Amino acid sequence: MPKPTRNIPVAKPFLDDADRVGVMEVLHSSTLALGPQMIAFEKAIAAYTGAKYAYAVSNGTCGLHLAVRALGLHDGDEVITSPFSFIASSNCLLYERAVPIFADIDEVTYNLTPEAVEAKITSKTKAILAVHIFGQPAEVERLRQIARQHNLALIEDACESLGSTYNGAMSGTLGDIGVYAFYPNKQMTTGEGGMIVTNDEVLGKLCNSLRNQGRNLEGDWLVHERLGYNYRMDEMSAALGVSQLKKLDWMIAEKRKIAHWYAEALLDATNILAPQVGPNRTHTWFVYVVRILNGKRDEAQQAMAKAGIQTKPYLPVIHLQPFMRTQFGYAPGALPVAEKVASQTLALPFYIGLTQEEVHYIVDTLILAAS
Ligand SMILES: *Cc1c(COP(=O)(O)O)cnc(C)c1O
Repeated sequence: MPKPTRNIPVAKPFLDDADRVGVMEVLHSSTLALGPQMIAFEKAIAAYTGAKYAYAVSNGTCGLHLAVRALGLHDGDEVITSPFSFIASSNCLLYERAVPIFADIDEVTYNLTPEAVEAKITSKTKAILAVHIFGQPAEVERLRQIARQHNLALIEDACESLGSTYNGAMSGTLGDIGVYAFYPNKQMTTGEGGMIVTNDEVLGKLCNSLRNQGRNLEGDWLVHERLGYNYRMDEMSAALGVSQLKKLDWMIAEKRKIAHWYAEALLDATNILAPQVGPNRTHTWFVYVVRILNGKRDEAQQAMAKAGIQTKPYLPVIHLQPFMRTQFGYAPGALPVAEKVASQTLALPFYIGLTQEEVHYIVDTLILAAS
């Protein structure tokens, strides 16, 4: 078989000389951890998002874990969440033996449907964990109302949605606690990294202590008040974060431009549904995910690979992952909308530097492959 002449990856980070200089400055200092870069990055994220408190952590998953611990969720507590997400948004509950209760999603935004959430509330429900999937905010104001009404906590998994807004407010800052992530394919990167944000001083202080070996940070360094973790961010990562955040709005604008090219190119395609944005919100395009409506998603993916185009079936539903089936006995059919969407979705190449010519090549190949 001839090798494809193209080699278009599904994602890659955008890094420039300012990023390299920022990280090198740390390497020329002797402070590689617990230093000024982490504090500067936290301040900058708080200023950007409008959150009162921000705490940098080693990755998004451990940020979510601390959110769950700080809220006191534990053994047998039910937390209503989305089955159409990356596995970490449910794993963070299982670490504390809380139980993810999946509610079905909306066909347009792929986020939790508030009515489905309400229908799953029981006397054991303690929280809602909303995921802003692919960079588009969930119905977070309605979810917050439901949470208030039933005395539940609201956690936002904003690991895919930095910079997006709902009624003008930043996703991640609308619940009790929110978490961003900075893995290399996210809106901005620190390598591995994450950030917890909250407006609640008590929750914030608790997260700060928990990520820092359970210390009381106003007290003696070697006194540990509670079981904690080392979930801190190092100075190289934080310096990269400071530098990346300075160009975040530009990077989001570049992604919006590419999303617009795709939408235009897909306008007349049958069988292929371009992403849609719900009312009252902005989208910051973590990934560009289309739906192949005629059942040929997997064939399309293979044909794309042969043409030198990498794509990903984002995302398989969480409740049908092997360990979830074993632990909770889920079978296909439990969450019909999420399962249907997950069987149709395909993430297309999407990164800063992708050209309009490449977008046309990708869409032309996809239209042929999915016909
Ligand atoms: C990326 C991501 C996370 C956290 O991922 P890390 O790799 O641990 O930083 C959590 N939830 C969702 C939905 C994600 O996409």
